[in-house]
Amino acid sequence: GTGYDFGQHLLKNPLVTVAMVEKAAVRSTDVVCEVGPGTGNLTLKLLEVAKRVVAVELDPRMVVELQKRVQGTPLAPKLQIIHGDFVKAEQPFFDVMVANIPYQISSPLVFKLLSGPPFRCAVLMVQREFAMRLCAKPGDELYCRLSVNTQLLARVDHLMKVSRNSFRPPPKVDSSVVRIEPRHPKPQVNFVEWDGLVRLCFGRKNKTLPAIFNTKLVLAMLDANLRTHCALAGKPVPDTPIKEIVAEVLRSVGFEEARSAKLDLDDFMRLLTAFNSRGVHFC
Ligand code: SAM
Repeated sequence: GTGYDFGQHLLKNPLVTVAMVEKAAVRSTDVVCEVGPGTGNLTLKLLEVAKRVVAVELDPRMVVELQKRVQGTPLAPKLQIIHGDFVKAEQPFFDVMVANIPYQISSPLVFKLLSGPPFRCAVLMVQREFAMRLCAKPGDELYCRLSVNTQLLARVDHLMKVSRNSFRPPPKVDSSVVRIEPRHPKPQVNFVEWDGLVRLCFGRKNKTLPAIFNTKLVLAMLDANLRTHCALAGKPVPDTPIKEIVAEVLRSVGFEEARSAKLDLDDFMRLLTAFNSRGVHFC
């Protein structure tokens, strides 16, 4: 490999590493997880403030280099290196995550974090556009399924912009540091149902909801789900055709003209509750 296969853009600007560690407000009792420590520029700063650092690194050459760098120093006993793919590995327990992540695993990483065991916060370097998507609000150009799903489960803040020149080699895109704080308690919602609805709505986010739901394919899927759920609950299938049920639900929440691009979390929650109460399910 050339090194680029692993998304290896090493953070060379110490001001940025220091700022990331500060923004994470690491306590001396914290276990910190780092994804992709590379040669350890951020890792060393984390080892100075944390109780322990668990670093997950995919590239065996980087694992060796990092080991060499800390070996024989007083920081060595605090560092555990896991050689593996963070997305596939079992998620280690940690209080805080701080990482300059490989951008190609951004979505699965955030999804894994938010569906895993609880943690206090994650301060992540991500591609600028990904940061904008995470933080986007209804009406923003980049508002999408990722925005809605992440914000359902976490508070997301854009902390700072980082220029491509802070890295060696510089990536082709600009970066941003974001903070993700999981919501406590977790929202009471079936996430698979939620994501099923949201995925459908953002498939064509600028169409009206009736236009999205009134296609043969969608109605057939919802009808099949309705029948399955009725069968499982031992209830009769309603006489009203699915097309009418859907129209009634959209009318009941006042979304006959609504577009996904403008709906907020509460709107999606109301819509899901209204569908579910009529036996309409998204999984
Ligand atoms: N943390 C270092 C720094 O800031 O200088 C390196 C960051 S570099 C953007 C991303 C690092 O993640 C590389 O060391 C790469 O080998 C590693 N990596 C790539 N894919 C990974 C994966 N799926 N799981 C764990 N580490 C991965």
